[in-house]
Amino acid sequence: MKLLCALLVFVASTSAVKNYGGYQVLRVVPQDMEQLQRLHDLYSLLEDTVDFWKEPTRLNQPVDIMVGPNLVKDVKIELSRRCLDFSIFVEDVQTNINNERCTDCVNTKAGFDYTIYHTSKQISQWVTDMAIDHGIVTEINIGKSDEGRDIKAVKISSGGSKRVIYIQGGIHAREWISPATMMYMANEMVTKYGVDSTVTAMVDNCVYDWYIVPSLNVDGYDYTWTNDRMWRKNRQPNTGSSCIGTDLNRNYPYKWGGSGTSDNPCSDIFHGEAPLSGIETSVVHEWLQQFSGNIALFIDFHNYSQLWLYPWGYTNKKNIEQPHKDLQHDLAIRATDALRKPYGTEYFVGMSGPDMYPAAGASEDYGYVTLGVSYSYIVELRDEGNYGFLIPEDWIEPSGIETFEALKVLGTDTLPIGPPIPEA
Ligand SMILES: [Zn+2]
Repeated sequence: MKLLCALLVFVASTSAVKNYGGYQVLRVVPQDMEQLQRLHDLYSLLEDTVDFWKEPTRLNQPVDIMVGPNLVKDVKIELSRRCLDFSIFVEDVQTNINNERCTDCVNTKAGFDYTIYHTSKQISQWVTDMAIDHGIVTEINIGKSDEGRDIKAVKISSGGSKRVIYIQGGIHAREWISPATMMYMANEMVTKYGVDSTVTAMVDNCVYDWYIVPSLNVDGYDYTWTNDRMWRKNRQPNTGSSCIGTDLNRNYPYKWGGSGTSDNPCSDIFHGEAPLSGIETSVVHEWLQQFSGNIALFIDFHNYSQLWLYPWGYTNKKNIEQPHKDLQHDLAIRATDALRKPYGTEYFVGMSGPDMYPAAGASEDYGYVTLGVSYSYIVELRDEGNYGFLIPEDWIEPSGIETFEALKVLGTDTLPIGPPIPEA
């Protein structure tokens, strides 16, 4: 019945879904500073016209540009004109979308299938069912999205009142592996609690209560199922513009409106009309106030690129004081060492802005400064090169397994508070 429902939803929605036939993703890997500069120039020129899956960051880091069929020839010419070698990273985006989900798979597993992608409705129901099925889980209704959907969390706790570990997924709608990995990890925690000694310690050593929001941008996520698989922002209308949506991960208050953001509502990195003007960021922020000063760890999960990053995010300057940098770096190294063990997956660990690219008003700085969390991370999950946002379903389980290994390291650490955190 469950599978039939899923198929009906899929069939009913396909007619309205944007088709990415003929869209290609071109990849350029800057080999020297001059090429990197030329890519930055190209980014400024084309940012509002084409979709940079990955914008220019640093040497040897791929830049991925999705281009529609009507522009593909011109962009290739433009790249050649600028002496930038490119490869075709995705030959046809629609083919990858079609291959992402295993449409002819038969669900042979009892209960919720953690190895497939789920609709926003199914994720919401999953939170409810987790609380019914497991004594250590509580369903948390954080509030409503712009379109009136519930933003939910699972709370995993063995009772009492402890320091909080807060984890969120799905702030960018099209990054489907993020909610899927959140649910996979939550399920690992609750099913291995009382069985596996490390997992039991994560919940039971009277240290942490876990709050996991699988899908924060619930409207945007829904839209990626019904209309446009490549949608990134939320679905909030903008004053004076026909373009929809705020990039919620540019809408946090710390250094809002700075580098790596846009004031153009049509941009994919539109920072919103004001700090926390995004309904979802605002609702979750209000809800988080009850834990003020008591959050030990904050992680915001995205994809793709395999990065484990800490503040600062707002600047690319390397010399700005960040008192927890060494503590955060050391913990992230230990977490990614554990992550590597099951499948050899390599993550880059570093400071978000200086090591990658600046993004002001983003989650890692928000967690660190606004919420005062000593360990605040933004993580880019799989992959590095093959699928980008369109991770095939059979990678959900490996992603869940390896990321949970990292979470075990974090969740059994004492997470010392460390020096004072800079003020906003
Ligand atoms: Zn993202």
